[in-house]
Amino acid sequence: MKILVINCGSSSLKFQLIDSETEELTAKGLCERIGIAGSRISYTLTGHEKRKWDAPMADHKDAVRLMLQTLTNPEDGAVKELSEIGAVGHRVVHGGEHFSEATLITPQVKEAIMECTVLAPLHNPANLQGIEDCELQLPGVPQVAVFDTAFHQTMDEEAYLYAIPYRYYKQFGIRRYGFHGTSHQYVSRRAADILGKPYESLKLIICHLGNGASVSAIKDGRCIDTSMGLTPLEGLIMGTRSGDVDPGVLEMMAGKDGKNIHEVMRILNKESGVLGLSDGFSSDFRDLEDAYLEGNNPAATRAIKAFVLRVAKYIGAYAAELNGADAICFTAGIGENSPVIRELICSPYLEHLGVELDKEANNIRGKERIVSTPSAKTKVLVIPTNEELEIARHTLAIVKGK
Ligand code: AMP
Repeated sequence: MKILVINCGSSSLKFQLIDSETEELTAKGLCERIGIAGSRISYTLTGHEKRKWDAPMADHKDAVRLMLQTLTNPEDGAVKELSEIGAVGHRVVHGGEHFSEATLITPQVKEAIMECTVLAPLHNPANLQGIEDCELQLPGVPQVAVFDTAFHQTMDEEAYLYAIPYRYYKQFGIRRYGFHGTSHQYVSRRAADILGKPYESLKLIICHLGNGASVSAIKDGRCIDTSMGLTPLEGLIMGTRSGDVDPGVLEMMAGKDGKNIHEVMRILNKESGVLGLSDGFSSDFRDLEDAYLEGNNPAATRAIKAFVLRVAKYIGAYAAELNGADAICFTAGIGENSPVIRELICSPYLEHLGVELDKEANNIRGKERIVSTPSAKTKVLVIPTNEELEIARHTLAIVKGK
């Protein structure tokens, strides 16, 4: 069966067509600037050249139509007929406490996704729009929602509650939810395969280090803690997000700088992280790393050192929660591609855990590999994430009724 995986953002729509038997990618594409001047699409049929072209897309409905036309076009389409698409898996950012696993989309499910809009005002409406447009244009094809938050629903209350009056949780659902769940789930399962041990017997720390970044602790096949919270702002220092800050900082930024709460939140989300720490130099780790290695850019060095320290602190905390770890796994743009960042995190900070990097093995980008020495007590793995494949797997399981 061919499964169409959709990740619908406010002005973009990413898609992949995956063969569920072979788990191979058949085609992928991206519609960008939906509803904005200069909208365009890029498309790649596996094994062929990527094509890019300008195409007017006034809204998501247009984007879905263009995606389906592209997937069925006679030259480099991926299917002859739309009926070859057996199911659609949608990435949905926030499932709140409603969803601890993927689910077949029904009117009730859509209502619950809508209810969660208050927790993800930018993402959930766009996700829902993508679902409704696919329902209209692929009638009769099962649609499945796979939530970014679901994998973390196994956390216990001591991990997910904030130490604020309990009524805020009961009345408004203010608690830690966590994000990047499909990535943490994919990588942790893959780690068990690579280590050749039962998933349910392992203690794992997963570091998803990309533009957005989070760490999670997995014990016996369930997530027991993760660094993102009510929103994806908590935890690690990210490209442009601050991660953890004392809430007193917000009050002072507002008071001293004459900002309202929305402006402060925008600064914490868009102008902070390594971009803020490097005094506006870059949010991109390729730039930061180059400057760090050249050694004459103190702002880039400061940002890298702070980023690395924060990751190491979370790993240390999760090693305590897990009472030791079998493996630490690195994934996403930085985790997969930066030997330098992996080394700075592991040494010296994690030596007390018995982490010992094999420098030669660690010198890889975007490949799956054990990068610790054979004698290391805690293994270190690089595992390229594949959120789309994880979504396709969940979608297949739901449509097969597993
Ligand atoms: P993601 O959000 O997972 O796409 O990750 C994006 C981040 O990964 C950006 O900060 C990129 O600079 C970083 N990244 C991608 N490739 C590399 C690389 N070869 N070396 C260092 N960082 C990289």
